[in-house]
Formats: sequence, structure tokens, C-alpha cells
Amino acid sequence: MDTATAPFTPITHPISPVSDLIIHLSTPAVSHRYLVSSQILRVVSPVWRRHLDPDSPFQSLSTCVETISGRAHTIMTLYDDDPDTLLLVLNILHFSTSSVPTTTIGFGQLRSFAVLCDKYDCIHVLNSYSKVWLDVWAPVALEPGYEDWLFIAKVFGDQRKVKELEKLLVEESGSLSSCESYFLRCGKMVETALLPEITLNKIMLSRSKELTRQISIWRSFLQSFISENVTKGCSNWDCVTLSYGNLIRSVEQSGLVKVFNLLEEWHGNIRDFEEKTGGIQLANGTRFHGYGWCPVENLNVGLRSRLGRVDS
Ligand SMILES: [Zn+2]
Repeated sequence: MDTATAPFTPITHPISPVSDLIIHLSTPAVSHRYLVSSQILRVVSPVWRRHLDPDSPFQSLSTCVETISGRAHTIMTLYDDDPDTLLLVLNILHFSTSSVPTTTIGFGQLRSFAVLCDKYDCIHVLNSYSKVWLDVWAPVALEPGYEDWLFIAKVFGDQRKVKELEKLLVEESGSLSSCESYFLRCGKMVETALLPEITLNKIMLSRSKELTRQISIWRSFLQSFISENVTKGCSNWDCVTLSYGNLIRSVEQSGLVKVFNLLEEWHGNIRDFEEKTGGIQLANGTRFHGYGWCPVENLNVGLRSRLGRVDS
């Protein structure tokens, strides 16, 4: 059996009483036919307008014409759209809005609306509904699992939480997978398919710039601390020896030796990196000698302040 020709009865959605166009949409499970007015589609969407142009390069118009209720219908085929979301949008366009949720919708449904209306460049048709929907989801946008807010906010032109979310993702995201289709955020997988490319690039660039900055500070600190055969300003040899020992042992314990030697990349997030480097000790605990603070402790304080970030 040839599944490509959909050997099952299609579901027909009579949307316009004066329809002249059949939108055909197939999913692996079932195919849908939406009876609509081509004029409305032309008016609301520049993309559909181009599809409906007889000279369209999209080749989405079928050459065959079907007669329904005595009227000739052209057939236009769409691909990869969500059938329920398309039905809701077409209903809104044809003023049958009783099935449109006016108070709240799920995050997945909001995302589906954004995907569809972004594709057909007709987000304005949702204007009278979207404010209420966005009000529901903007407050949780920073929580893990809602990263697609960056896409939704862009499509709907809502700036709420966007900057905060971008900043948070710089802190909480690991490196991009080699296929670039996901990254881990605090251990949870985040798919990149919908994230605006510019935003994703910006987040990943900020992440790697900050890691590079910190790693280079650690490298130069460790190189000078270990190679310069001096007392680091402390006249107490026991203290200096202990500091060396503490530093070398805790760098090893941090598991970052290869990262500091640039033999390995840090694929985790910045927070985890800072937690590990925060555990690296170089003073031995006796930081106060008879004459004052141990100079090694001053080195430590200087290092931490160079590592610290100026919040932009
Ligand atoms: Zn000392």
C-alpha cells in the first residue's frame, strides 16, 4: 500500500460558507482538507498570497480543480504544519472564533501558533488573543524548559524576560552539541531548532568568551605561582610549602588540569566551572602571621578579584 497517497478518508473542515480553496495538509496519521476563502488568505498573509499566485514558484497549487457544493475549488497543499493550530488560525481568519481559547493556552500551543504564524507571516491575526496568552507565560519564561520563549517573544514582539533569559542561558548552558541541535542547561536538554540563530550565537559566544577569560587568568596565575621560585613574599617557609602543596592538590582535585592545560574543552556551564575553581585553595589556613596577613593570601585575593565579573 502506498502511504504517500494517504489511503484513508481525509477529514474535511468546512470553514468558509463561500469557500473557493481547499487547503490540503497531510500528517503521517491522517490528511486534512480545509475549505476556505482564498481572498482572505491573500489579504492576511504575504506568504499565502505568493502561494496562491498562479505563477508561484512554490508549486503548492494543484492544477486540478474540485467542485464542492456547485463551486469550483482550487487545491493548495501545505506541508509540516500542525493541523489543529492551522484549523484555529483559519477559524480566526474566517471569524468563527468560538473554539479559540480566550483565557489561557498551553505553552506548546502558544509555540505552535508562533511557528505557524511566523512561517506564513501573519502573527497579527492573533492580536486580539495573544496579549492574554503571553501574560500567562512571560512570568515563567526564565525557568528551565521554556527556552523557546526566545522564539515566541520574537515572533509576537514581546520583549518581556528576553534579556534576562539570554543572560541566564550564558551562565547555565553547556557547549553546543556537535550537531548543533541541542545543548544542556543545568543538565536538561534544550533543543535549538526554534531559538533565533543570532540569539543562540550570542549566548554561546558570551559563554565561551567568559570561560576563555577565566581559564587564561588561571593559566597565568598557575604558571607564575609554580614556576617563579620565590617565597611569594612570605618569609615563613612552612607556610609557603603548604601553600604550594594545597594549590597543586586542589587543582588536581578540581579535575581541571587538562582544561587549564588547554588539552580539553570545558563543556559544562560557567556556574559549574566557577564552583570547581572556587574550591581551589592556595592558602593553608594560617593566613595571619605575627607581622600581619600572609602575602600568599594577598595573591589569592588578587586572583579572585581578577576572576570576578563586572556585571553588564
Ligand atoms: Zn605565609
